[in-house]
Amino acid sequence: MPDILPDILIEAKGLKKYFLTKGLFSRRGTVVHAVDGISFYIKRGETFGLVGESGCGKSTTGKLVLRLLEPTFGEVYFEGHNIFELNRKKMRRLRQKMQVIFQDPFASLNPRMTVGDIVGEPLEIHNLASGAEREERVLEVMELVGLNSEYATRYPHEFSGGQRQRIGIARAIAVNPVFIVADEPVSSLDVSIRAQILNLMRDLQKNLGLTYLYIAHDLSTIKHLSDRIAVMYLGKIVETGTTRSIFDNPQHPYTQALLSAITIPDPEVKRKRIILKGDVPSPIDPPSGCRFHTRCLYSMDKCKKVEPKLIDIADRHSVRCHLGKPCGAQEADTRR
Ligand code: SF4
Repeated sequence: MPDILPDILIEAKGLKKYFLTKGLFSRRGTVVHAVDGISFYIKRGETFGLVGESGCGKSTTGKLVLRLLEPTFGEVYFEGHNIFELNRKKMRRLRQKMQVIFQDPFASLNPRMTVGDIVGEPLEIHNLASGAEREERVLEVMELVGLNSEYATRYPHEFSGGQRQRIGIARAIAVNPVFIVADEPVSSLDVSIRAQILNLMRDLQKNLGLTYLYIAHDLSTIKHLSDRIAVMYLGKIVETGTTRSIFDNPQHPYTQALLSAITIPDPEVKRKRIILKGDVPSPIDPPSGCRFHTRCLYSMDKCKKVEPKLIDIADRHSVRCHLGKPCGAQEADTRR
């Protein structure tokens, strides 16, 4: 049993996931370093935001935390138990407590099933309710997410994007989970609908005591829900801190660039957009030293050769950059 800090629900330690891919013309496979040694914790009842561009490893991290993927290395503890050591029976029991909300409500709902069957299916899978009891729970959950009970007999194609995401959320909460991975839950929705879904998620968190891992590709929606944020780049966490410290005092040049891309809904306030040069390098052959050096405005010689460590720069704020000014201990304890 690890030395778990009180009130920590999830803890990931040194998590790595490498994929072996085979090309058309090469017999020897290439290794994709999707997640490359990340550690973090999530306290009960909080939202931990994981942000980064496509291909940075954030969705793979979500799948690892749910054990939808096996890691190449590292551990994930849920309530103190290493989930990768649990047998099928124990893992099945645990799955009831861990649910997921997918990015694309259009693709994640079976078009041949009614809303009632979609929301009720997990209740049957986990042997929690059947028959009239199941019907009752389905209607209860639909009401919780703001769906009219008359919709239970309708099919997904009859709904708007926002309503479909409400169905996806209803399916996730039907089995009374304690932890939900929300993988870009609003990125495919109209801007006008996003706030409604985020508010719903926040209300459900408050009323049901949920803990979220909230995954997003930019920082614009993450602020509304997250208590703490980790910024990922090419499989590594490059900055982590409270939402306030990340937004008020971003230290990593990549975080600064992500923040500069957020539109401010006030014509009086101007923010200089930082345009990063080049594309995200391939995770098959990540750059030497600091992985961000090929795109960083402040890159120095040292950055190409020496990989920076994640260091504490303030209370609960750590950065992986040679320009970071350490406070106290040099290497960050990501568990605080
Ligand atoms: Fe930029 Fe160097 Fe910091 Fe990396 S270590 S973010 S290249 S300044």
